Amino acid sequence: MHSKKQSSAAVTKPPLFQVSVFVLTASLLSFIQLSAARPMLIVERFFPGWGWFEILALSLYAGFIAGKMLNPTQSPRWRLRIWILFSVVFFSQLLIGLLGVDQFLMTGTLHIPVPAMIVAGPLFRAERFFMPILFASTVFLVGPAWCSHLCYIGAWDAAASVHKKKPRFMPKWRHSVRIGILLSIAAVSLLLRWIGVSAVVAGGFGLAFGLFGIGMMILWSRKSGVMTHCITYCPIGLLANWFGRLSPFRVRITPSCNECGACRVVCRYNALTERDLQNRTPGRTCTLCGDCIKSCKDQWIEYRFFRLSPDSARKLFLVLIVSLHAVFLGVARI
Ligand code: SF4
Ligand code: SF4
Repeated sequence: MHSKKQSSAAVTKPPLFQVSVFVLTASLLSFIQLSAARPMLIVERFFPGWGWFEILALSLYAGFIAGKMLNPTQSPRWRLRIWILFSVVFFSQLLIGLLGVDQFLMTGTLHIPVPAMIVAGPLFRAERFFMPILFASTVFLVGPAWCSHLCYIGAWDAAASVHKKKPRFMPKWRHSVRIGILLSIAAVSLLLRWIGVSAVVAGGFGLAFGLFGIGMMILWSRKSGVMTHCITYCPIGLLANWFGRLSPFRVRITPSCNECGACRVVCRYNALTERDLQNRTPGRTCTLCGDCIKSCKDQWIEYRFFRLSPDSARKLFLVLIVSLHAVFLGVARI
């Protein structure tokens, strides 16, 4: 019942919601602008003092995107669009930086842009914990939604998977494979450190791991319609699923679900198997992407956050995730 109220509220009351996203984005970016040791916003780097205009533009952008995402029917399309936009901006800055324009690099110290390095890098170097801390804080705030809105590589797997209309279901052993990969990455990173290989050699391992993952997207995700890279290969996705449980946000299937299966064909994360529907809860690979919300015509799938109504829980989630997206768009670079 409350879910039906959800759509009418979504259509009739966007301004306060959008203002919240604007204010949160502006606050986060202003904090970064005032407290970072070096300019983080790209405009500030070229024109000192003008970064405030970039903050205004990004905050207006966030409010606009939030309005689009509030409509559950439009949300899957806009989620993919903004996720790909972030990835394009991220890698374009890396490319321009590599071509010699240092302002487009974070510090001038290059890292391999492969998510697995968030674990492997600090284990190998025993220092520079910025990325693990950023990842952990994000996961604490919005659960595994790192892997449906914020990761610079995951967007590629999403784009590859939508080539096939209907996703296939992957075998269960994929969970064990991913755990094995996570443990192997940790072991190899420590081993490389122990035998004292150079950072260049270690980076070569990271690059090879990343290229293999891209091959999976091209050869497997495109054919299966499932984000195979993210749900079978990437160790960060596994950590996001595990530690995402620390966040109170959930997607739940209500007891009224009649298991018609309409939602199963939109989930690219293989988190809505028959068993998951019977259990009335999405599988452990759910990333809170929200694509399934609109697929249930009776709206028996919903966001939950403690005792908030599903509508308020979804709005709160969108306020956080859209603001984080805009902040990442403004400051994330290598
Ligand atoms: S599973 Fe890995 S590559 Fe995929 S979105 Fe998550 S962190 Fe990114
Ligand atoms: S169950 Fe729904 S929210 Fe979770 S990953 Fe699948 S489509 Fe996204």
